[in-house]
Amino acid sequence: MHRLLRDFAYYGRVAKELIFPRRCAVCATNIDNGYVCEQCRKEYLLQRQLPCCPREEYLAGQAAPLPTDVLYSALLLYKYDGVFKDALHKIKFDGEAGWLPLLREEAELALPAAKMRWLQQFDLITCVPTAPERRKQRGFDVPQELFAGLLEGRSVGMEVLLERVRHTEPLYELKPEERKQELAGCFAMLPHARVSGKHVLLCDDIYTTGSTFAEAAQVLLDAGAARVSALALCAAQANWE
Ligand SMILES: [Zn+2]
Repeated sequence: MHRLLRDFAYYGRVAKELIFPRRCAVCATNIDNGYVCEQCRKEYLLQRQLPCCPREEYLAGQAAPLPTDVLYSALLLYKYDGVFKDALHKIKFDGEAGWLPLLREEAELALPAAKMRWLQQFDLITCVPTAPERRKQRGFDVPQELFAGLLEGRSVGMEVLLERVRHTEPLYELKPEERKQELAGCFAMLPHARVSGKHVLLCDDIYTTGSTFAEAAQVLLDAGAARVSALALCAAQANWE
């Protein structure tokens, strides 16, 4: 069902492009792929790798209990701003699946060859799970749709390891400590999932304070994962510098 919907949205857009050329969402220049032109992409590209503390330090209690301490590393591709923010809003709140292929191409464009090698360090790649009711309402899973294409043809594919077992309220107005409380216990391992000794990459659409990633990462670590790293399409402003 997801793939059908995705393909329908994609080919619908391709058909449209035969009549109307694709244009940059910012400056309206004709473009061949992605969502913005090369020049405008520079304004949004972040490609920031967060230096998180090693898990050994975390376990030894030597690190401050910040949300990202459970993450081994994090790669943030774009600034959550302007047209990227608009597209994610249209996808998540208006259910407009047609924007997904464009952002999926942007994710690929933000990971050039050197960064693709970065992906090779992971034994397992998974997404932060969406609430089942939200997925049902939208008809698609946003992080899976954004990153599945990126990992196609690679030796390590996307696997579903986690599920949401409890409803959570929207986090955007909550402080970091309140976010942590709201998220506590909302994820669980799927019965079939085996992560023991593995380095797991967790993918999600937005990195804000890292608390959602941290909560999901902790569940994977508790199940025996050796390390958990994060990959986000967009990052909130606090992470830009
Ligand atoms: Zn442009």
